[in-house]
Amino acid sequence: MSNFFHTKIEFLKGVGPQRAELLQKELGIFTYGDLIQHYPFRYLDRTQFYKIAELDDSLPYVQVKGRLRGKEILGEGRKQRLSARLADETGELELVWFKGVKWVEKAIKNHTDYIVFGKPTEFNGRYNIAHPELEEVTEQKPTNAFLQPVYNTTEKLKSFRVESKTIAKLMEVLLNMAAPHIQETLSPDLVDHYRLIGKREALLNIHFPESAEKYKSAKFRLTFEELFYIQLRLLRQRVVRRVELKGQVFNNIPTLNEFYKNHMTFDLTNAQKRVVKEIYKDLTAGKQMNRLLQGDVGSGKTIVAFITMLIAADNGAQSVLMAPTEILADQHYQGLKKFADSLGILLGKLTGSTKAKERKVLHEQLRSGEMKMIVGTHALLEDVVQFQNLGLCIVDEQHRFGVEQRSKLWRKNPQIIPHVLVMTATPIPRTLAMTLYGDLDVSVIDELPAGRKEIVTVHRFDSHRLRVFQFIRDQIKLGRQAYIVYPLIEESEGMDYKDLMDGYESVQRAFPEFRISMVHGKMKAQDKDYEMQRFVKNETHIMVATTVIEVGVNVPNASVMVIESAERFGLSQLHQLRGRVGRGAEQSYCILMTGYKLSKDSKTRLETMVRTNNGFEIADIDLKLRGPGDLMGTQQSGVLDLLISDLAKDAPILQEARAAAQQILEEDPQLEQDKHQNIRKHIQSLSANTVNWSRIS
Ligand code: ADP
Ligand code: MG
Repeated sequence: MSNFFHTKIEFLKGVGPQRAELLQKELGIFTYGDLIQHYPFRYLDRTQFYKIAELDDSLPYVQVKGRLRGKEILGEGRKQRLSARLADETGELELVWFKGVKWVEKAIKNHTDYIVFGKPTEFNGRYNIAHPELEEVTEQKPTNAFLQPVYNTTEKLKSFRVESKTIAKLMEVLLNMAAPHIQETLSPDLVDHYRLIGKREALLNIHFPESAEKYKSAKFRLTFEELFYIQLRLLRQRVVRRVELKGQVFNNIPTLNEFYKNHMTFDLTNAQKRVVKEIYKDLTAGKQMNRLLQGDVGSGKTIVAFITMLIAADNGAQSVLMAPTEILADQHYQGLKKFADSLGILLGKLTGSTKAKERKVLHEQLRSGEMKMIVGTHALLEDVVQFQNLGLCIVDEQHRFGVEQRSKLWRKNPQIIPHVLVMTATPIPRTLAMTLYGDLDVSVIDELPAGRKEIVTVHRFDSHRLRVFQFIRDQIKLGRQAYIVYPLIEESEGMDYKDLMDGYESVQRAFPEFRISMVHGKMKAQDKDYEMQRFVKNETHIMVATTVIEVGVNVPNASVMVIESAERFGLSQLHQLRGRVGRGAEQSYCILMTGYKLSKDSKTRLETMVRTNNGFEIADIDLKLRGPGDLMGTQQSGVLDLLISDLAKDAPILQEARAAAQQILEEDPQLEQDKHQNIRKHIQSLSANTVNWSRIS
């Protein structure tokens, strides 16, 4: 992009210093380039009108043409509202304003034709639209824009009269000036091959589409471009890593063979075998491994981690397995210790609560290389923890760790960067994984060990609580344990806390014969651990908790998961919670409790949970319901600041874009060929643009 697009927004006609400051603060628009990329979030189809008699509660927005038949201000003080009647030949509609009453009353005229836009709601058999957009019908021909853009603004901007229409006007001014400066950003080959419209035409038509066809082409072109550059960046990082980062070669596996032969108590599933092969190939390639291991809860990632650690040990290298909490570190340790002991391998554990004396011994054993494997928490990151030859880092539940924290681990081998395996049980849809972890290689365990009983999931209304409690009682009498989980959502923390406490008390009252634990986010880590341990050791029968128990905790004896106010949880979160049961030999149950009043999305979530146990299917539906921004682990990534793409809908384009990026990099890794100069230039301008202005100001 030329310098034109770096011009400060305040220089645009109609902006000025005050609006410029607002646009910066409210929408992050600092330059002409930023404004041009402020794409409409929807369009008004000005050719489509509804008749008043056709209105229907389920319509999101409608456009109605009619005549204003009267207006009156009703009520007093804060209850004051303006009510106006709009009529067409089929009926009458009420328009209501609760704000700006006096101002609007003056602005609208009786016996005048208006185009009204808004969401219709039914009340006592009549339709009304609150705070409609209103436009007088004029003789003048409508603009040549087929679809009219609607731009995001904020309440603050609106209070300064910067409405969608205002932005549209600014955009028109800008596009007129900008047109000659807009350069093609994709190679001629790509434009040809994917039949893309040019960059200039795309920008003009995304804001002011000449036709529905043109709009589609513009949207496709810009989506393709956005996803293409994300993939190109990720793939280049991967190439750089492959070329530049050497890795230790681990090709001896005597102990692994012995383990397979004499100590494995079960057969690996086919998925586990495939993943082990993929990992082994990485470890013998001479390049640094950077692999994401995805596997639903209970799919058996721990054994794969151990096998990988064993391969490292067989080649004289040390490995760490880092977990986000003490409880999880503990469980990993317990799980791996059996295996390590059987092979006579020294396995350590280092967490915040490891005693100073023990610590000293561990530090020494790690430095000398005597200890080949260690499991732990953040405590592993401390500078005093040094290795003789750290060759492998495994990180569990990665979204709990920041990038910096993790890189602290890698740096513990100054000679040669360790191999990295990141494990996550959050089933990320493939499209999202490709974008989020595009620079990692991905392995998936998509199969549960044989003989596992499917968790039975049911939805029950609150009014059936007594029966649900009876069911819990029966299960506990059979020797099992139960979880009862309450929501905890930050905005209403106080209320949720009260719900939890009320819940805890009612559970205590309902089960006087059982011992009950409680864990929530307001407790000190130590107390949490203590309570959790009591439940793990089967000293308590019921665990009342908030979502803090979500990740990774393993209590095979727990067979019932009751989720209160289940409608308030996201789908992936419900699935994660459900994964806390079904880990033992017994049949397990997940009971989703809700009131009667449920939104459409809540119903979809509950039905999905009842219907399927497949984490990937659930993740896909979750992505469709929520959009990717909310999915776990995506907040810190930054790659998801998408301007136009929607990963839930644009998966096919994403795949094309990735394939295109891959092909170009294979053919011309340094982007030196003439035909790739557009791409090369655009990458340079993108990286020049990544200065985060909002942070500077
Ligand atoms: P997760 O992927 O959730 O971390 P784990 O590694 O904790 O799952 O495995 C869950 C349980 O399944 C463990 O008790 C483990 O020993 C067992 N397991 C793992 N792989 C197999 C297998 N191939 N056959 C039978 N049991 C297995
Ligand atoms: Mg696990």
